[in-house]
Amino acid sequence: MDRVVRIFDTTLRDGEQSPGCSMNLDEKVMIATELESMGIDVIEAGFAAASQGDYAAIQAVASRVRSSSVAALARATANDIDAAAEALKKAVSPRIHTFVATSKIHMVHKLRMSEQQVLEHTSRAVAYARKLADSVEFSAEDAGRTDPDFLVKVCRTAIKSGATIINIPDTVGYLTPLEVFSLISYLRIHVPEFDSVELSIHCHDDLGLAVANTLAAVEAGATQVECTVNGIGERAGNAALEEVVMALCTRRPYFKVIDRIDTRQIAAVSKLVETITGFRLPPNKAVVGGNAFAHEAGIHQHGMLASKETYEIMSPEQIGRDEHRLVLGKHSGRHAFENHIAALGYHHLNEEQLRLSFSRFKVLADHKKRVSDQEILSIIDSVCRFY
Ligand SMILES: [Zn+2]
Repeated sequence: MDRVVRIFDTTLRDGEQSPGCSMNLDEKVMIATELESMGIDVIEAGFAAASQGDYAAIQAVASRVRSSSVAALARATANDIDAAAEALKKAVSPRIHTFVATSKIHMVHKLRMSEQQVLEHTSRAVAYARKLADSVEFSAEDAGRTDPDFLVKVCRTAIKSGATIINIPDTVGYLTPLEVFSLISYLRIHVPEFDSVELSIHCHDDLGLAVANTLAAVEAGATQVECTVNGIGERAGNAALEEVVMALCTRRPYFKVIDRIDTRQIAAVSKLVETITGFRLPPNKAVVGGNAFAHEAGIHQHGMLASKETYEIMSPEQIGRDEHRLVLGKHSGRHAFENHIAALGYHHLNEEQLRLSFSRFKVLADHKKRVSDQEILSIIDSVCRFY
């Protein structure tokens, strides 16, 4: 039987750490609601002690989301862990996510701690977090550059102290897929507790390998993958949610894993995050780029007409993209308008926001033959900002 892989989304935390990216509270709740509806297992809503804004966003997401776990990040200190627990109070399924750096470079230059001190620090933080939450995730920061034998000790210490999920981050995007495969396999052999504790992977895209590394970890037995919508995140970003999920789905007989994601919501979530962050996708972006399903060469078009399977490994419908979406103009009614903005990723406008958006759209449509998606998005954006 295919085993289950859990999808942990960190668009609102690691994603928001993208240089130049910020999202307000309403925007974060809007994204979280969409993530929940698409079946994300865990939504990391922020870093509780980082700012008032992060704290409030975690609180708001925790009180809104019902069917996904909500996680909050905390350094391995009592203050940070208290803040995370407090912000998560209203969550149905709260998770405290704490971390300690474990690579030599980080221990010597950043923490100025010995291996023994790092182990004690880990144990203390995890045990404290576990008093406040049943679900505690521990990340060995910079695990990718950590001595594997020491990493084994760290994992076993964290598990012994009560961690229910161990995350292995390639914090600096340094590893290759084969190395990730070896590391995860090594941990599974030397940490027998992974039979009952989740083993998670978190990859960065500095060398363009985040998705490949994430998939290599799944092949080696990882049970949770961490990713962000459109791959946004620190520096070159994180593993892209849509790419990881569609790889697992398209190659399911190969990976032999299942997840809970409704892939038909991918296009809308991607669009929503693109609009809110202002980070435009390149047309050749895998899965969600404008050209991802476009066929230009004559020979390809000919093949597609004969049978779609010739050049298409997945369909636009699978990710919820209607390639024949209608263009909106002055004759479009409120119903068509609502359907259209839902396809753009906006399902949760309130009545007043909908009414105002539609009337502004009508004014614009009276002057123009067609109203572009970009114009519609800027109307919604300005309405949601003030109402
Ligand atoms: Zn990260």
